[in-house]
This record gives sequence, structure tokens and C-alpha cells, in this order.
Amino acid sequence: MVTPTIAYINYFPNPSGSLIPRVKIIIIIKQSSWDRPGLLVDSVAVEESCTSPFQRAILLATRAPHSGDWLLAPPITACGLRLEDEAVRIAVALRLCSELGSPHTCRCGSLVEATGVHGLVCKQAPAEL
Ligand SMILES: [Zn+2]
Repeated sequence: MVTPTIAYINYFPNPSGSLIPRVKIIIIIKQSSWDRPGLLVDSVAVEESCTSPFQRAILLATRAPHSGDWLLAPPITACGLRLEDEAVRIAVALRLCSELGSPHTCRCGSLVEATGVHGLVCKQAPAEL
């Protein structure tokens, strides 16, 4: 197996005015650096599979810093941090861009898609899906 390495060549001036090349070789030993090329390929494949602006928006939102911090909150009821099962189901479905229910017509007359995002913006939508 070939050990991945990165080589840099920097040029430093010497007193005579010419440049002296210095080669710096870094041997990659962290697992994350081994995984990174494959993850980048997978990331591009996922991004190219987005067929709508909605899916792309979801993907970009999940890549934002701290977008998954809510998953790290300890479920302490006294502090109001415990989510009901239904809230977790909806949050995960929105994050994964999966279907929450079947398409139907909202009380406001708009068509509600299976993704359920209309319920996030409509004041007439019921509290539950
Ligand atoms: Zn509505």
C-alpha cells in the first residue's frame, strides 16, 4: 500500500539573491485524511443527485456549521430540551428530505406536498401532520 503524502516546494531567497528550494514532505497518517478523497467523491455524487432547488437547499442547510447541534442536546425535560417522538420524526424527515405524509390540500387551499414543508410557513396548517 502506498502511503499518501503531500509535498510542498517553497523557495527562499539567499543573500546572493537567488532562490533556494526547500521541499517539505508531509506523510498523512490520520484516518480522516485517508477518508477525505472518498468523502469528497460521495459528496459530489449526493450534490449532483439533487433534482430540485428544495433538495439543494436542504443539502446546503445540513452542511452549515452547527446544523446538527440539536442532536447533541441532552433530553432533559425540566429544561425543555426533550423532544416528543413526533417532533423528532418531523425534524429527521425534514433533514433527510423524506416524505412526511401524503399530498393533500391545506385549509388555506394550497397543495401540500409529501415533504410537509408547507406546514412550516402556513398559519392555517394544523399543528400536527
Ligand atoms: Zn396552508
